[in-house]
Amino acid sequence: MRIDLHTHSSVSDGTDSPATLVAAARAAGLDVVALTDHDTTDGWASAAAARPEGLTVVPGMELSARWFPAEGRPVSVHLLAYLFDPDHPELAEERRRLREERLDRGQRIVAALAAAGYPVEWERILDASGGAVVGRPHVARALVEAGVVDSVDQAFATLLHQGSPFHVTKADTDVLEGIRMVRAAGGVPVFAHGLATRRGRVVDDVAIAAMAGAGLVGLEVDHPDHSPAERAHLRGLAGDLGLLVTGSSDYHGANKATPIGACTTDPAQYEALVAASTGSVPLAGRGGAAG
Ligand code: AMP
Ligand code: ZN
Ligand code: FE
Ligand code: FE
Repeated sequence: MRIDLHTHSSVSDGTDSPATLVAAARAAGLDVVALTDHDTTDGWASAAAARPEGLTVVPGMELSARWFPAEGRPVSVHLLAYLFDPDHPELAEERRRLREERLDRGQRIVAALAAAGYPVEWERILDASGGAVVGRPHVARALVEAGVVDSVDQAFATLLHQGSPFHVTKADTDVLEGIRMVRAAGGVPVFAHGLATRRGRVVDDVAIAAMAGAGLVGLEVDHPDHSPAERAHLRGLAGDLGLLVTGSSDYHGANKATPIGACTTDPAQYEALVAASTGSVPLAGRGGAAG
């Protein structure tokens, strides 16, 4: 069984439609794929409708969150949420709030870039997004199309990274609250790419222990942005804290170089994750070949 538990479609900041994404998952030899768009469940229905024979689709989401350390600035973290009830009112309201934050933040980033002379326009970026949940990759594409940079990666390396003068933070969910909400909605929270130092500041072991105490179920260990040392450290923590271990590609279509299925999850860990959920069910491929 090949299982990839973290992918993004064009419903957020990936480039494949949910239907194209599930076809790509099967073509890559996956048996299970989770759709985890940022702060939305909008892709669930079309991914489910398009799922090919032999592919199980796990409904999920990646929630933008923050860890508040005892001292110092909050740290941006991402929380994967699987198999929750999409109608749970509190979590639905939080997704809505986060999408509003994204619109406000995106507009402010683009205004600052435009004021500095970069030829980008918020209205055009919104139009090009086609109603998707907007993120920095949408701004990155506009910078590529304007000829300012050669690639999305270069846009992040130069203008859009966390330390850039053009970076604007948004009021993301307190991660401990997020974990509580996902559990309340019957879902399974997993800490995404928790030690990916190449993305910016990361949390310490105290934070991860606090998350475990709040009801975290797993750690995403095998992720393209984790070094071997980062994976080893997280794997050790998962053992110490009694957490599940997942592996995933964080596929974003053409917005990143990583292919779907680049990292995968052990089947026993996946089974335990499904067993911990009560809000939704994985959707077996039509024809019922996979479970
Ligand atoms: P946002 O959700 O708007 O804060 O943007 C974060 C998203 O940008 C991540 O989920 C990735 O999809 C993407 N991203 C972050 N860092 C990079 C990078 N260095 N290169 C390409 N994409 C990135
Ligand atoms: Zn993303
Ligand atoms: Fe993420
Ligand atoms: Fe992601």
